[in-house]
Amino acid sequence: MSKFKIDPQLQVQNELLEKLKNLQAIPVHPITTKYWSLGGSGGWLGTSTTGILKCPDGIGSFQHYVNGSIYYHPSTGAHEVHGLIRARWKSLGWERSFLGYPKTDETATPDGIGRFNHFQGGSIYWSPSTGAWEVHGAIRSKYSSLGWERSFLRYPLTNETTCPDGVGRFNHFQGGSIYWTPSTGAHEVHGAIRSHWASLGWERSPLGYPTSDELVVFGGDGRISHFQHGSIYWSSTAGVRVLKERIRVHVKILTMPTRFTINEQFAAMQEVYAMAGIRVDCATTENLNLPSLADVDVGGCTMGSVTAEQITLFGNRNFVGSNDVVVYFVNSTVPGYNGCAAYPSGRPGCVVVRTASRWTLGHEFGHVLGLNHVNNNDRLMTGNGTFNITNPPPNLTSGESSTMRSSGLSTNL
Ligand SMILES: [Zn+2]
Repeated sequence: MSKFKIDPQLQVQNELLEKLKNLQAIPVHPITTKYWSLGGSGGWLGTSTTGILKCPDGIGSFQHYVNGSIYYHPSTGAHEVHGLIRARWKSLGWERSFLGYPKTDETATPDGIGRFNHFQGGSIYWSPSTGAWEVHGAIRSKYSSLGWERSFLRYPLTNETTCPDGVGRFNHFQGGSIYWTPSTGAHEVHGAIRSHWASLGWERSPLGYPTSDELVVFGGDGRISHFQHGSIYWSSTAGVRVLKERIRVHVKILTMPTRFTINEQFAAMQEVYAMAGIRVDCATTENLNLPSLADVDVGGCTMGSVTAEQITLFGNRNFVGSNDVVVYFVNSTVPGYNGCAAYPSGRPGCVVVRTASRWTLGHEFGHVLGLNHVNNNDRLMTGNGTFNITNPPPNLTSGESSTMRSSGLSTNL
């Protein structure tokens, strides 16, 4: 007889304790941890309506509750989805969709109005007035780069949608759209430019898809979006203009202008040339150290007749391709003019002096593109000096516009 006979009741108790220890060694499922962190059955998710179940991929798992779900994947952790964002995710095919597993809980946007979940393959944004829509891929990257819903785009109004051609994709947003194709990338279009593009037939119009975001034109008031086959320009004075041609201008600086910056002169030129449907591109800018030509002798400044100094000056043609034009910014002309558009044969261009007006650059290139003076101070081609223009921006007639477009120096976009 052993002195230490174990009490059978104590043995049962010890075995139970061992089992409890083993139970403690079993980790709590991350879904359960997340559920507890959100208040468990007393929290807003409510009670569970399923057990913790494996996803079809055999890797992730989920649990549904009365008011939402928690999804877990080893690479994303456990996150809740609920409400209309969950409904949108569900409509796309849950984690089996391109969105994959949630990477965040539903999160309030900084404006306090909207909500979002980020997923492995995109995001779903919701606001009370817009509903819940997904954004992903290159369109989402563009949306992100602009500042998400804090940008002028605000909240999405659609899922990413295929264009009728089966090639392009877009999301509409409250403040504009983002369009993408494999060859053009993702670009935003908004405001009056977007409205006009839409009125022409969106990407089915002759302009095609956007190839740029909306850009500021030469630092001024004008805005421009480039498309595959043209541009749309807007300014407060010119309104919306479709630009189907362009002139490529090379800038050669001997003396910096003093009254209006080069950008101001280009912005003004583009504002007027938009009336003719012509885009003004500044192709290159180069400083020239040619003091002997800074006060350039232009003789009588008559088209087709040039001085030795003009021939020498216009010989500076770095980067200048065929059909390109050049402006030389000089100190003055001798005799004194705002500028002069007489150029040697085959070297189209003009000179503009330091003290020129805002409209001189556009006026001189008007001559280069074939226009003559008129006695009317409402028009760009006034022969009375562009300082005397009375209704900025000055007018171009339709006849002048077609002369410019058929000059050979304005080329199709
Ligand atoms: Zn003139």
